[in-house]
Amino acid sequence: MSAVVVAPGERFDTEVPLLIIGAGAAGLCAALAAKEAGVDPIVIERDAVPSGSTALSAGLIPAAGTRFQGAKGIADSVELFAADIQRKAHDEADPVIVEVVAKGAGPLVEWLADRHGLPFDVVDNFIYPGHSALRMHGLPSRTGRELIDRLRSAVETNNIVILTECAVETLYAEADGRIRGVGLVRGAGARERIGCGALVLACNGYGGAPELVRRFIPEMESALYFGHRGNRGDAVLWGEALGAKLAHLGGYQGHGSLATPHNILISWAVIMQGGIQVNVEGRRFCDESRGYSEQAADVLRQPGGIAWDVFDARIASVARQFEDFRNAESAGAILTANSAEDLAQAMRVPAAALAAEWREVEELKSHSERDRFGRQFAAEQRCAPPFHAVKVTGALFHTQGGLAIDASARVRRKDGGLFPNLFAAGGAAAGVSGATAAGYLSGNGLLTATVLGGLAGRTASRQVTRLRSTNGP
Ligand SMILES: Cc1cc2nc3c(=O)[nH]c(=O)nc-3n(C[C@H](O)[C@H](O)[C@H](O)COP(=O)(O)OP(=O)(O)OC[C@H]3O[C@@H](n4cnc5c(N)ncnc54)[C@H](O)[C@@H]3O)c2cc1C
Repeated sequence: MSAVVVAPGERFDTEVPLLIIGAGAAGLCAALAAKEAGVDPIVIERDAVPSGSTALSAGLIPAAGTRFQGAKGIADSVELFAADIQRKAHDEADPVIVEVVAKGAGPLVEWLADRHGLPFDVVDNFIYPGHSALRMHGLPSRTGRELIDRLRSAVETNNIVILTECAVETLYAEADGRIRGVGLVRGAGARERIGCGALVLACNGYGGAPELVRRFIPEMESALYFGHRGNRGDAVLWGEALGAKLAHLGGYQGHGSLATPHNILISWAVIMQGGIQVNVEGRRFCDESRGYSEQAADVLRQPGGIAWDVFDARIASVARQFEDFRNAESAGAILTANSAEDLAQAMRVPAAALAAEWREVEELKSHSERDRFGRQFAAEQRCAPPFHAVKVTGALFHTQGGLAIDASARVRRKDGGLFPNLFAAGGAAAGVSGATAAGYLSGNGLLTATVLGGLAGRTASRQVTRLRSTNGP
């Protein structure tokens, strides 16, 4: 159980300069940055092998002005990126943090590539909803598993210690909020207390805590949670107990395209390239191009809580760059037919309704027109047989609310001011998506995990080093 103990004179089994809780993208980027800044951090992770929600993701990090974009002639800028984030967040995101992440993402991706050997490139064959430039940077397999494995091997190469199978339960703090150390329980049940000069919370959000989802995001309380189970809201609970400022707790990343019953993510490329979603009545129900996050609740509101993605072979060839899509094909989740009527039969939806929707959409594409929901279609999105369909549902991927931080990733107090040595990054910190699912711009999750993780590691290290030189070793 997560708890905070106010214990000014506490003695610890060991003392280390910097502790990082969580070995996802945020924690490992924090660790690499800290090491580079001259401090030896210790990362504490509940699992035997680091994975987190990071491993479940597509591993795509949005970044503007990178050399990877430059090599492909893609024009982009930090200002354009920041404006895209804020537009999607309905101007609810903290502009200071938006600027920090928009500015920091390019250098972060290049740092991971150049210094730590992560072979990024830009996804250049479809644009994610809400982005005005091609700026999603991914690894060859387009999987978060590859991202976390490569980050872990960089951490190992740099001789950074990860204490695995250790769950932090308790934070020990002074009355003024200065963190003195943590109490953890090892896999076998042994308890230990480690003192620290600074603490980075990189233990993600509360998607894996049903009672917190019910409390903060009631619309998703009965939705499938598709993120990492170990993200149980510890940062929010510790923050609440410490008197930290919490922000945008209703914000989350949903996804309206999870193949069911296979539970495999179907990339939103199938929609952005010109596909549509229909319900079991064969009817479309909204503008799918707004984004996949808000689509989760829309799909769950349809009869049976499901929908069908409908697309064609051209679109399938774009989606096939994602391992998940290939897995969905191998699992038999993707249906194929040579006409809308035959596809409807395979889907067991009314053929006349699906055929009418399909005809209308193809007509709109021919004239590059908007539909009744406001979705803009384009001629190059036209589809041709064979057609495909996959049955999907909506799911909760991760929460976006959390601890409010300043421009150096330091945690803010509810009553103003900052905690002296407490930092937060990734899903533990309030994101840049505002207070609803609709504010989530693709990539906001790994953006705030990697950029704020690196930032927290760097600033925490600087602080620890400053203290060391003031107080002596
Ligand atoms: C299916 C899916 C697809 C996604 N796709 C994308 C994408 O393509 N792009 C994108 O930007 N975002 C995506 N996201 C979101 C993204 O994965 C997350 O925002 C990001 O991984 C968060 O990183 P993190 O380091 O904060 O958390 P995590 O990677 O979840 O790491 C947190 C770690 O903390 C550990 N932990 C928690 N509590 C404790 C404790 N008390 N003691 C010790 N350890 C603890 C956990 O075990 C976990 O390993 C996706 C998410 C999902 C679920």
